[in-house]
Amino acid sequence: QKPVPSDIVISRSCVPKPIDCLAREVGLMSDEVELYGKTKAKVQLDIIKRLQAQPDGKYVVVTGITPTPLGEGKSTTTIGLVQALGAHMKLNVFACVRQPSQGPTFGIKGGAAGGGYSQVIPMEEFNLHLTGDIHAITAANNLVAAAIDARMFHEATQSDKALYNRLVPLSGGQRQFSAIQINRLKKLGIEKTDPTTLTEEEITRFARLDIDPESVTWQRVLDTNDRFLRKITIGQSPTEKGYTREAQFDITVASEIMAVLALTSSLEDMRLRLAKMVVATSRSGEPITTEDLGVSGALAVLMRDAIKPNLMQTLEGTPVFVHAGPFANIAHGNSSILADKIALKLVGPEGFVVTEAGFGADIGMEKFFNIKCRYSGLRPHVVVLVATVRALKMHGGGPTVTAGMPLPKEYVEENLPLLEKGCSNMRKQIENAKHFGVPVVVAVNAFKTDTEAELDLICNMAKTAGAFDAVRCSHWAEGGAGAVALGQAVQRASEAPSNFKFLYDVELPIVDKIRIIAQKIYGADDIELLPDAQQKVERYTKQGFSNLPICMAKTHLSLSHEADKKGVPTGFILPIRDIRASVGAGFLFPLVGTMPTIPGLPTRPCFYDIDLDPETEQVNGLF
Ligand code: ADP
Repeated sequence: QKPVPSDIVISRSCVPKPIDCLAREVGLMSDEVELYGKTKAKVQLDIIKRLQAQPDGKYVVVTGITPTPLGEGKSTTTIGLVQALGAHMKLNVFACVRQPSQGPTFGIKGGAAGGGYSQVIPMEEFNLHLTGDIHAITAANNLVAAAIDARMFHEATQSDKALYNRLVPLSGGQRQFSAIQINRLKKLGIEKTDPTTLTEEEITRFARLDIDPESVTWQRVLDTNDRFLRKITIGQSPTEKGYTREAQFDITVASEIMAVLALTSSLEDMRLRLAKMVVATSRSGEPITTEDLGVSGALAVLMRDAIKPNLMQTLEGTPVFVHAGPFANIAHGNSSILADKIALKLVGPEGFVVTEAGFGADIGMEKFFNIKCRYSGLRPHVVVLVATVRALKMHGGGPTVTAGMPLPKEYVEENLPLLEKGCSNMRKQIENAKHFGVPVVVAVNAFKTDTEAELDLICNMAKTAGAFDAVRCSHWAEGGAGAVALGQAVQRASEAPSNFKFLYDVELPIVDKIRIIAQKIYGADDIELLPDAQQKVERYTKQGFSNLPICMAKTHLSLSHEADKKGVPTGFILPIRDIRASVGAGFLFPLVGTMPTIPGLPTRPCFYDIDLDPETEQVNGLF
């Protein structure tokens, strides 16, 4: 086998077709496309209306076994599969993938454009700023954060009357409410539009949000792995008169605004979701929203362009939408509904849209079905479950690996007993996919050290475990040609009967929904609600948020809550430490253990290798 060059070398060796040509090829009209240079374009949402009558294509979701530090290759397989279906099997295809966070690109993980001969190109555009959607989210998120602290400060330092006069200023000798303020009055039950007619009591209620500083759940964000921002004190300048507060930064992709972008169905719907986000609680226990802060319209303005999916291409010239990239633990880890919907129309009834869900099937896929599909109304035809020999060996009890050290021999030499033991994890994840009634095709992503006997063993075990089919593929080393067998299996599976169902009814009580996920998907005996979580169950039920779907924030490295428990852990009780609400995005997220919401940099971050060649303006060292 010839050696495979680095991802950036492969990416650079391929000249992408001009993006306006690709846009025409996939059936977009020139006025539906906004070019961002030569290799990226945004697609306007009007296309959904134009193609309303067109039947949807086949919808495929790519997921994986429980991830290990050895990597499974879900993104690589997503791209390899569309290259096979599109460039080799000559079907209409679209891949829909997440935009990666810049934090990991410079930190540990590197890029996320796939790898080897299955990549989105140009990979440096994909992995860095793209068209600025993540920057727009940072701007919108931090505007909310600034609005919260400024409002608390002004309320603390001014009388009711002074606040009111500033909130409803004189203009041309008259005071007038803005549209957002009239909404707030309605929420307070004050049916008045003339600012001069409010009673003193109404002025106080209107002017004071009375936010309890302890209850603020909205954090500032940044798309950089800066661990020293995990806990900060804000307001230390004398100009803030001692109103200091402990706060934190999260990574931008963990912002609720990112989850809103991924789950929204139109500009109007996004505006509503951005207004419903709950950022704190008042001292009397009322949820305080972005609409109460008066900032929701400005958020919609900042997100106006970000809502349009970004068109790019694979190494083999097939189309890709890159759109939204919510964190896969405290959010749902799936690319946008809008990109999937537009792609399904563009490919037509015989075509395929392949979308990827973050982490393993117990996390990304469960949330894909129970959250994303619930909001989109789309019904998937096939689940592709990616497995690798080396990762399954780790689930079978293989040794841990250390970054920068050679892989232990278990992973590079044939070891059938270890592999067979580890297949238990794949079996459980197949079972998890089958809970939703959708056929599963296992894609065995082959590495060069895997043996024939090992690859056969996985395929046989997958079929015995109830997979529709299981095929080995070599798209990393060979591009789409290496995934044709996978493409054919997916095509056959898409014609098989599918009987999609949700795992739970959203109208069930919060605790019941959490228990169903814990028992059916993770294999827990039961759940244990710790006091903070119990309190939130009561609060959210009272506030009317109990009928939202559940987005579990659990480690992705184990089916259980303990990252080092590989394979299929049994006999455990899942502890629910706390529960939070993303009311605008539309889910409750129970916290299972503690979850870092902004990664840190390792001793030797990826940025050591990244540089710009001033002669050619080429980026070097990304992978
Ligand atoms: P995931 O989406 O599961 O996180 P990726 O597709 O991003 O995984 O792949 C992780 C890394 O593994 C990438 O650097 C990719 O190039 C590499 N990789 C994937 N498949 C293979 C393979 N078959 N052989 C060698 N490297 C691979």
